[in-house]
Amino acid sequence: IRNPLVSIGGFARNLLRELDEGEPAREKVDVIIEETDRLERYLKDTLTYMRHNNPVFRPANPNHLVHDTFLMMDAELEQSHVRIVDELMPNPPEVELDADQIRQVLMNIFRNALEAMPHGGTLTVSSRLVGNSVVLSIADTGVGISEQERDKLFTAFYTTKSSGSGLGLTICSQIVHNHRGVITVENNDGPGTMFHITLPVSQAVIREAEHEEIADRR
Ligand code: ADP
Ligand code: MG
Repeated sequence: IRNPLVSIGGFARNLLRELDEGEPAREKVDVIIEETDRLERYLKDTLTYMRHNNPVFRPANPNHLVHDTFLMMDAELEQSHVRIVDELMPNPPEVELDADQIRQVLMNIFRNALEAMPHGGTLTVSSRLVGNSVVLSIADTGVGISEQERDKLFTAFYTTKSSGSGLGLTICSQIVHNHRGVITVENNDGPGTMFHITLPVSQAVIREAEHEEIADRR
């Protein structure tokens, strides 16, 4: 699917360059370009969605993952005029997780936050320990989410963006679920939204607890 898409998009861009300003066909070519871009994003998200199934758990410092993700998004962040506030707890415990997958989760949530703050704002990342889990919280000062919207956010293909795939949060929730974690959302104090990712520090403790539960049932 990708190769024909790239041809269609590429030729449409060529065509656009050949058309004079004010030519009525330009609008139509613009639509072709936008729609192929959209399909390409869909494709990318769908591929990521399918790839992420079996996490490979290794101990990792959650703060490093946040910082790595910010580095990966350097250019986007620079362009966005969004201020980053780091309120991560110092010296967090190492968490058993799949670093690639959790970075993907963070990137999706950070990107949504930037998209919710087209005129700039503040992105605050904080963390704390709750029982045997690390909770990462990501708050933005963007457009916010209405009560009715909140239930649909994690549904596949739900999007309010003209060029969105609606798969970002679906992938996030799938990944976090595979880590036996929880992802929730609440309206931020004031404008904006706050996402919480709760990740168990150890997968082994959970596996043991599950085994005991099964044994108990027998
Ligand atoms: P996409 O970003 O492609 O639209 P997502 O699954 O990432 O798909 O998000 C689904 C929808 O949830 C978005 O279209 C948007 O309406 C809403 N949303 C997600 N994050 C935020 C946020 N930080 N602030 C406001 N709305 C958000
Ligand atoms: Mg998204």
